[in-house]
Amino acid sequence: MATTHKTRMLIIGSGPAGLTAAIYGARAGLQPIVVQGLQPGGQLTITTDVENYPGFRDAIQGPWLVQEMQAQAEHVGTRMIWDTITAVDLSGPPFRATGDSGDVYEADVLIISTGAQAKWLGVEGEQELSGKGVSACATCDGFFFRGKKVVVIGGGNTAVEEALYLTNHSTDVTLIHRRDSLRAERILQERLLAHPNITVLWNKAVERFAGEGVLQRIELVDTVTGERVEEPTDGAFVAIGHAPATELFKGKLELDENGYIVVEPGTPKTAIPGVFACGDVMDHTYRQAVTAAGTGCMAALDAERFLAEHDFAAKHTHAAQ
Ligand code: NAP
Repeated sequence: MATTHKTRMLIIGSGPAGLTAAIYGARAGLQPIVVQGLQPGGQLTITTDVENYPGFRDAIQGPWLVQEMQAQAEHVGTRMIWDTITAVDLSGPPFRATGDSGDVYEADVLIISTGAQAKWLGVEGEQELSGKGVSACATCDGFFFRGKKVVVIGGGNTAVEEALYLTNHSTDVTLIHRRDSLRAERILQERLLAHPNITVLWNKAVERFAGEGVLQRIELVDTVTGERVEEPTDGAFVAIGHAPATELFKGKLELDENGYIVVEPGTPKTAIPGVFACGDVMDHTYRQAVTAAGTGCMAALDAERFLAEHDFAAKHTHAAQ
């Protein structure tokens, strides 16, 4: 039977942003509920070595890090619920969210931390050969291509970082980009172009991933001449950006041209008082576990302030009546 869960603080999404918000919210006595979503733990669960999360001298594993965050959040009083929100009503407070399970969640403040997911090219063979040579995460899957030929598709920071990372495993890395100049930061470009094990194929768009059961080649078209070429490869990493998980909020919250939730600059505040957004769902620039955790903390602190002001105003109105 469907249940209505009432809480002061509802958090949608369980990556570092949501879990950090939960830790702060729970320690402030707000007994938060975190609805975990389709990929509990978020993108860290598909990340292997993490070397840039402060506090750990040696590399740690992404899934381990997020499990520890969850354990910490639960330890201080967070309730984790395995459900996926399918509808929200932001006309509150109270704000309401409905889960896939049929359960309804009602809260005085809402924190959105639904994250972002890798974009795919949408060409033939991509999904069929996903996990069989085609991947969207070099740090997760690069290891499987030790000593093999790999390609990376894209021209931004992610693509260049992935190509550089893959040289740890392979001596034959090719970056394929649809234009003749890269979008990535200059320092990354310089490292890429100077690397003896990386080749760049300019002005090439992927038309098809092909192979018998596993990826064996990529069919490319030259974006200037229209000429078709084939590139043999064992692995292909699609690194063309990320899409925020904001479908639920279309028409309810302002989204930017790429679909990210718009917040008041430098804060996690959306245009609706009591609704906050943190992590990759509102940040397309930094997208790091540590920055997601940072904005999660900010969201919880601002939510706490909002509740304190709200409670104070309600008490005074009540007293005046
Ligand atoms: P991005 O900067 O949006 O770059 C996406 C790249 O993929 C672009 O080069 C784009 O080509 C290409 N692309 C997009 N759609 C394509 C398609 N359908 N077919 C072929 N190519 C396609 O994405 P990102 O590299 O993931 O970076 C996102 C943000 O995170 C950026 O702000 C970046 O600076 C930041 N980031 C920072 C770091 C870091 O600081 N260490 C690391 C990673 C990411 P065009 O250039 O032709 O548009």
